[in-house]
Amino acid sequence: MTVQDNPSTDVVLYEVRGDVALVTMHRPEYHNAQNSQMTYALDAAFRRACDDDEVKVIILRGAGRHFSAGHDIGTPGRDVQQSFERSSLWYDHVNKPGGEFLYAREHEVYLGMCRRWRDMPKPTIAMVQGACIAGGLMLAWVCDLIVASEDAYFSDPVVRMGIPGVEYFAHVHELNPRIAKEFLFLGERMSAERAYQMGMVNRVVTREQLEEHTLSMARRIAQMPRLGLQLTKQAVNNAEDLMGKRSTMDMVFGLHHFAHAHNELTSGDKLGGYDAKAMADSQRKAVKS
Ligand code: ZN
Repeated sequence: MTVQDNPSTDVVLYEVRGDVALVTMHRPEYHNAQNSQMTYALDAAFRRACDDDEVKVIILRGAGRHFSAGHDIGTPGRDVQQSFERSSLWYDHVNKPGGEFLYAREHEVYLGMCRRWRDMPKPTIAMVQGACIAGGLMLAWVCDLIVASEDAYFSDPVVRMGIPGVEYFAHVHELNPRIAKEFLFLGERMSAERAYQMGMVNRVVTREQLEEHTLSMARRIAQMPRLGLQLTKQAVNNAEDLMGKRSTMDMVFGLHHFAHAHNELTSGDKLGGYDAKAMADSQRKAVKS
């Protein structure tokens, strides 16, 4: 059976093809910049896929030219001041003073949701084309496998804002520490090919092959028994946590929020005065010099 959403209104589309669910970020006009509306819609779509016994594997992808340009820091749909029905027991961030505002918000929508998605009991594959930047990285990294097209690129340029990487600090588990430092210090694009060499992505294929290759991989995984897949995923995820992934993330989350608070104290802005356009401009300038 195929279930499909309405592509004209939804920021996340949900479709089931056989035993594979396709979850599509759908703000192509903003390169799938992730606002809270999208985050909660993603959470609902993943819940739907986990609840459906027919679904064995979940693919996460982005509509349009890019996988995701990151967190929404400048589209007309930016909704950081809005309350949503939360998926954790964290209290609402809206109207909280000082550092508490972002600390509560990011616990819920970034760190909390990403960990929840990373531990979904079904295998997930990120299908990445074009840009996968900062907040976009978190979405690809929470997936078990990453298939990228040749034109895909990855970057985390938030050190420019004075912040030590995105909220889900998996950098030193996705890349070896020296490469992670290069990735963060320079904030430059890492090509799909280099990400493949570093072991951060599983496959690199042409843009034309991307969907079919990812679907075919998902269908082959779907032939394995459900519980076998779940136990295997849990084994690897738990092993990563024993290697320090979870506690590293908790520790860096504190540094991350010290940086937000420092920015607010020194410049009056939690992001150090950068919105999406200012970030893109300064990245371009840095590459030229
Ligand atoms: Zn943050």
